[in-house]
Amino acid sequence: MGWIDDAKRVAAGAILVREKVDAETADYRGRVCTACNRLDLETLRCKECSCYLRAKVWAKVNRSPARPLGEVTHCPLGKWRDRDIANHYRAIDGKPLLPPPVPRPAPVAASPVPPARGGDGGN
Ligand code: SF4
Repeated sequence: MGWIDDAKRVAAGAILVREKVDAETADYRGRVCTACNRLDLETLRCKECSCYLRAKVWAKVNRSPARPLGEVTHCPLGKWRDRDIANHYRAIDGKPLLPPPVPRPAPVAASPVPPARGGDGGN
């Protein structure tokens, strides 16, 4: 990462971030982004929204060229458990909405019947 990227990142934090979230939220976001295939690991920018992640994960409200008055900071793919917020802005921007999350299968309860012991063939 060169000095131009460093300067842009600092400017993004200083100019674009209007309100900040708590450390726990920023940490959660950072962990999600680190595991995301849309993160450019060299510049630490999101390939979806071009934001600098070091500033973005801390932002509660941010300004952007599209919304200079501010928007609720969100993951554009809803990966921060914020799909509804992402879809709010996607609808405004005319983008296709994100689908609902795939429900997880219900946990399988432990069987009340103890497992059969081998050896007697069941007779
Ligand atoms: S903001 Fe969302 S899409 Fe971008 S890197 Fe983070 S998790 Fe991925």
